[in-house]
Amino acid sequence: MPLKDYCFDGTRKLELRDMPTGAGEYRVRKGEYVDATNANMQRAAGLQEKLYASGEEGLIFALQARDAAGKDSLIKKVFGRLNPAGLKITGFETPGETDLAHDYLWRIMQAMPERGTIGVFNRSHYEDVLVVRVHQLQKQYRLAKRCLTDDFFERRYVQLNNWESYLWENGYRMVKIFLHVSREEQKQRFMDRMELKEKHWKLSVADMKERALWEAYDEAFETCINATATKVAPWYVLPADNKWYTRYLMSEILVKTLEEMHPQFPPLDPEEAAKIPAAMQELEREA
Ligand code: AMP
Ligand code: MG
Repeated sequence: MPLKDYCFDGTRKLELRDMPTGAGEYRVRKGEYVDATNANMQRAAGLQEKLYASGEEGLIFALQARDAAGKDSLIKKVFGRLNPAGLKITGFETPGETDLAHDYLWRIMQAMPERGTIGVFNRSHYEDVLVVRVHQLQKQYRLAKRCLTDDFFERRYVQLNNWESYLWENGYRMVKIFLHVSREEQKQRFMDRMELKEKHWKLSVADMKERALWEAYDEAFETCINATATKVAPWYVLPADNKWYTRYLMSEILVKTLEEMHPQFPPLDPEEAAKIPAAMQELEREA
């Protein structure tokens, strides 16, 4: 399936049940995809260096998914192959007192990467229209009554679209990734977490309870993606059951997005350039 078929930019509607969760027929070509991922990451690293050198645009990947869909390992295995100096990884957990004392974008704004840097959000502002919607948490968040309208989440989608347009107009790109894992694969990964000692730290009984809300989450993801898929801040719905395939697609998105940004090394200031011959002579004299 070409990359564009995983992309939602507002020009077509997402039906989550039509989207694959695994590599399907590509499974037999795993080796080729792993090689292609390696080549993509080399290319991405070269483009990242130019992005960093030019410092003109910032790029943010917002990763959203169910538990055990592979966000952490995607960060480690794909983004971990870029230059860490030009990366800013931020995880968003349950908001604390200070977070809740502010508007929901407050903590996100503090995590924004500088221009020239690639930001990776492990969960993001989208939690505020996903987990919050499924559990109706806004009702516990001490919000003024006038804010708790019937169209609370529709308004939030508009706010998110407005905010992402604002970022676009201020030199940032936001790309949103949904890791689409199947119910069976999630079960298997939870089982592994229970069986393997080195995975115990990832275990959370609360995560397992969320499985009972599978359909509610499907609905929340689908509605959210359809409402917030735009040209300036597209969503990608990536199959997550085969990690090597997810990594390949993520590497493709990385290269495609960086190529669209077309970063260039900045030209040397002519005044500095004029000083080069004398500086070279000086260094040569040292020897
Ligand atoms: P983990 O990604 O495993 O570290 O878990 C983080 C937890 O924080 C998940 O259960 C998220 O649903 C939760 N979380 C993140 N952001 C929010 C938010 N804005 N409101 C409520 N829960 C959140
Ligand atoms: Mg978790």
